[in-house]
Amino acid sequence: MIDRLMVLKHYIYYKYIRTFRSRRALECWQRKKISAHLKYVAAHSPLYRGKISLEEYPVIDKAYMMKHFDRLNTAGIRRKDAAALAVKAEKDRDFSPKLQISPGPHTLKSPGKLRNPQFLRSPRLPQRKTGITVGLSSGTSGLQGLFLVSDREKNQWAGYILARFLDRGIMGSYDTAFFMRADSNLYQAVSSKNIRFHFFDIYRSMEEHIKRLNRLKPQILAGQPSVLLLLAEKKRRGELEIHPRTIISIAEVLEKEDERRLKEAFELPVIHQVYQCTEGCLASTCPRGTLHLHENIVHIDREYLDKRRFIPVITDFERRTQPIIRYRLNDILVEKGTPCPCGSPFLALKKIEGREDDMFSFSGIDGQEKRVFPDFIRRCILFAADEVIPSKWTGEYRVVQEMDGNITVYADFKEQQKQRVLKEFTVLARDQKFILPKVRFAPYLQEQGRKMKRIERKVPHR
Ligand SMILES: [Zn+2]
Repeated sequence: MIDRLMVLKHYIYYKYIRTFRSRRALECWQRKKISAHLKYVAAHSPLYRGKISLEEYPVIDKAYMMKHFDRLNTAGIRRKDAAALAVKAEKDRDFSPKLQISPGPHTLKSPGKLRNPQFLRSPRLPQRKTGITVGLSSGTSGLQGLFLVSDREKNQWAGYILARFLDRGIMGSYDTAFFMRADSNLYQAVSSKNIRFHFFDIYRSMEEHIKRLNRLKPQILAGQPSVLLLLAEKKRRGELEIHPRTIISIAEVLEKEDERRLKEAFELPVIHQVYQCTEGCLASTCPRGTLHLHENIVHIDREYLDKRRFIPVITDFERRTQPIIRYRLNDILVEKGTPCPCGSPFLALKKIEGREDDMFSFSGIDGQEKRVFPDFIRRCILFAADEVIPSKWTGEYRVVQEMDGNITVYADFKEQQKQRVLKEFTVLARDQKFILPKVRFAPYLQEQGRKMKRIERKVPHR
């Protein structure tokens, strides 16, 4: 159950108590947290039993986590039970059911799988019945992810998020409209007299949503960029009459261009972002609009691709039910390189560039595969389009590298713009030394309900 008092406790902790004077102080504190966390995991996860230093843990990814799901989690939950519950919730569009676990039954039910009897007798197992929420990740890759979050972790998460985004403190009055694929019992449970959450199902009609928003007039609006952009368009046309103080972009990468459009439409100096995935809540914006890694809940090792770009390998030292330890994401993050004026010791990011999976793959002139960052592809479109007729274009585009390796640009471009885009691609191919495949143009198309990706690769890497 969500416990409001616990949420409040975490809110106060993250807002006022758990602050750091310097990067050094943060790192020192992190080391202690990690060490304590690994002790817990080593005692409760059959897969990680006995591993007490970070180096002993393998670097894992989603496939590994799903393969070893049953033995990795510390609650004795089987993947097939979790999956059945999550799929049913999606089908019924009712996200309230939880897995109820208590210490005895789940461990005794399948003793054959748990080879360590010590594990069964561990005094640290929760003594009270506790609810575990199961969710499906909305990943764009083929592999479906499952995540487990306990009530305790939810309370903590809620407190953390509230501490970051309630601009008028916990006593202020807020209506938060959030557009999501699936409701979660978390938001409903956190709602109180003055902090109210309103769920907008992105599968339902936009017209209905507009009416409801106009009545509600939320102070906080949260949703993925594709939805926020649609709302911005309605606002420009005068159909949407809301003036949120805070807009939070979630679930998809927010491109700089889209951020600018949102700022203009809603007349806001900052568009906030939460960089969150199944594996955790990894970064959010400060009041200056800079994304900072949440290094007070996750430790992040950086696997550098060049001077500033890196792949995060995360260790979450708060999540106990489904430990996330040395988990390699396939996102490309870019460091800001300069400290943020807000003074936070947490690493400042210039942006989230996209998924490593979406690096385009070309034949190099030396015969080797040449991989190109999503950002370079993006620039081909934006440079060209902006220079020609900046005001005539809606800003909507998608670039897909198809299965056959050729490129399709989905955008409502005039002939002149197409020529400029082609020229930019030619320059890119020359600079990066690869053979440019066919580039074809098509009208802009976005499937509703699907995650929006401006840059997407379908052809497999070699
Ligand atoms: Zn900052």
